[in-house]
Amino acid sequence: MNKFILVVALAATATNLALAQNTKNVEVTIDGVAGFQDTPLQPDGKWHVHDPARPQPPVVTPGKFSQLAAPPSDATVLFDGKDLSHWTDRDGNPPPWKIVDGVMVSAKSDVQSKEQFGDMQLHVEFREPTPPKGEGQGRGNSGVFLMGRYEIQVLDCYQSKTYADGATAGIYGQHPAQVNACLPPGEWQTYDIIFNVPHFSPSGEVLSPGYVTVIHNGVVAQNHQAIRGATNWKSPGKYTPHGPTGPIALQFHNNAVSFRNIWVRPIQVVNEP
Ligand code: MG
Repeated sequence: MNKFILVVALAATATNLALAQNTKNVEVTIDGVAGFQDTPLQPDGKWHVHDPARPQPPVVTPGKFSQLAAPPSDATVLFDGKDLSHWTDRDGNPPPWKIVDGVMVSAKSDVQSKEQFGDMQLHVEFREPTPPKGEGQGRGNSGVFLMGRYEIQVLDCYQSKTYADGATAGIYGQHPAQVNACLPPGEWQTYDIIFNVPHFSPSGEVLSPGYVTVIHNGVVAQNHQAIRGATNWKSPGKYTPHGPTGPIALQFHNNAVSFRNIWVRPIQVVNEP
């Protein structure tokens, strides 16, 4: 069903679509992808946030890349398999995640680093549950939040579809990944992320957005992509001014996702032409 027909069908069946939009979005499924077409439009004017009709990232089978990459000498190691001493929950309490066989496993709530980071290079390894359970956003959902608020999606999209702006290595709700380079659940995967922080004027205007490059299993998934603001469900992204550094947070989204070998190092941002 094309987008136009679907919209007409929805309008015909809803007794008061305008009211529905203000209260509860209507989930629609197109070509096996569940999403929304009554959410705000992205700035490109073509797709709604979490639009199931937005094209899927093409599948690329990755090779081996940076698995178990040893941290460089100037890196801060946030998890080396031994303890969670670098982490708290979002409120500063001891993290509820568990260490199982030398990897940290998501549980109960998000966790965040005690240390704060700005412009950075970040290495993270994750493993999706096997056998896989659930579909779409319910299948191995976690996330890497830069500065605690800009989510690079972690999801099991190996032979599993979801709305493009919420798939693996997407900037959640904003920019789909350029490729789907997922490995099968149960295999370790890598994110190598380069992040430039956003800058704000004293009055809170966005002077420059955040930019992120994401290499997923050795394949570029985001290429110096501008971030449109804090990532949220059904939101196209909105900036709230903040300081020059923030924590790295990892999401708990009701699925037990494993992480290992997490390290970060500060980088310089060169603005010369
Ligand atoms: Mg997530």
